[in-house]
Amino acid sequence: MDAQKIAQLRAAPVAPARHLIDGTQCAASDGAVMDVISPLDGQILTTMARGTQADALAAVTAARRAFDDGRWSGMTPAARKKILLKWAGLIEAEALEIAVLGVRENGTEIGMAFKAEPMSAAATLRYYAEAIDKLHGEIASTGDDTLGLVHREPVGVVGAIVPWNFPLMIGAWKLGPALAAGCTVVLKPAETASLTLLRIAELALEAGLPPGVLNVVTGEGPVVGAAIAESMDVDALVFTGSGTTGRRLMEASARSNLKRVYLELGGKSPNIVFADAPDLDEAAKVSAHGIFRNSGQVCIAGSRLLVERSIHDAFVSKLAAVAEAMTLGDPLDPATMAGAVNSEHQLEQILSAVDDARAAGRTIVTGGTRILPETGGYFMAPTIVTGVQRDDALARNEVFGPVLAVIPFDTEEEAITIANGTDYGLAAAVWTSNLSRAHRMVRRIRAGIVHVNTYGGSDLTVPLGGVKQSGNGHDKSLHAFDKYLDLKTAWIKL
Ligand code: ADP
Repeated sequence: MDAQKIAQLRAAPVAPARHLIDGTQCAASDGAVMDVISPLDGQILTTMARGTQADALAAVTAARRAFDDGRWSGMTPAARKKILLKWAGLIEAEALEIAVLGVRENGTEIGMAFKAEPMSAAATLRYYAEAIDKLHGEIASTGDDTLGLVHREPVGVVGAIVPWNFPLMIGAWKLGPALAAGCTVVLKPAETASLTLLRIAELALEAGLPPGVLNVVTGEGPVVGAAIAESMDVDALVFTGSGTTGRRLMEASARSNLKRVYLELGGKSPNIVFADAPDLDEAAKVSAHGIFRNSGQVCIAGSRLLVERSIHDAFVSKLAAVAEAMTLGDPLDPATMAGAVNSEHQLEQILSAVDDARAAGRTIVTGGTRILPETGGYFMAPTIVTGVQRDDALARNEVFGPVLAVIPFDTEEEAITIANGTDYGLAAAVWTSNLSRAHRMVRRIRAGIVHVNTYGGSDLTVPLGGVKQSGNGHDKSLHAFDKYLDLKTAWIKL
């Protein structure tokens, strides 16, 4: 990574951001703006439009018109593919600029941000672009006197509400299949991570995406997001974020037009280490990164470590050594392994979760405090807490920070009970050399993804989605198209 170029980019002023509605940049209807605070130093990076309900509705109207007149869905899949591939290329060509802008806004370490944000978004758009002209309808196996055809049709206008931890990666998981399928989109980025999504939306226009097909409205969730969720003209809502907001979106759907609602709501993912793990040093290293990278602000973060009692102390020592050796701080230094927490509010939430554990008598093995306060930024030390009880808040609630709750177990059965003992079911991992045990655990753990002898790092070819209160529906893989394509039957008497 070119350190000199990063230094130049980090010093560049950032222009005030505006919505992108119907192919045009515009201010909020009442002219209001909100500050964009950089978590690197707590300073104002720029401003962005503070969207109103009217802005959200204008974007929905544009998306509705663009869908209904067929300017996008009526193109051949091959034509849509060409535009999406061009878009992916434009994002890649500007990847470092986009990555640095994103880091200045959300604090992720640049090494990870570069790969996980622009590069991954471009790869996702390519994947779905390349797939769309290879998906076919079906001819049903009826008798000779009828013909049953199963068409796949785009669902229409999609409302996409996305979070701040990986705005481009998660945004592209929704935009890729939605746009490839022929849907039009109203995108609501998070309050603290809007700039890069706005930038790639501009690049989409440059690539030839017709105006109105992708609209981006910035501002507050309870105003802009809620207006999208309540709209009678949005056909499907796709969301990644908190359970509280997810519930509101389902209620909004029930109150309005019963739009489909697909939720990805995070987790409290168990990372289960048996004494017979093939390589405990590797397990410690990967497990530490599985919770501490991006300062734990990862939906699938392995935030509960379930460790077999016989290796508990030794394994915790290994983990602490990895955590303490991590290079922390300036997210724009390519050597940094964990950058800033996204916002002051988020840092306060994390510190309060740790304070509660401390007050309950749990042991903070390492970390537990804010670090680098002299920068003005929001940095938190990787934190390991032992002695956590199964019913502690730290064992049940998502912290979304670099905080690992460690719980010992004695038997496989007990590990499964603890693993399944939360409301969530997003991710899990099992470290063992015993193949049968690995398969048993995969079957019995209730989660959307169970890793074996690794944590994280799955690619686009496999689906990601949760069970229980981690949500429904899947991002990634060809299964993601299910959210954006409806089945329609033609039943024809011959
Ligand atoms: P987090 O706690 O991770 O910030 P949120 O669920 O609050 O999770 O935010 C995820 C996304 O949901 C953001 O884009 C945010 O603006 C949006 N959002 C927050 N509240 C609402 C709401 N009441 N209606 C619709 N969207 C919302």
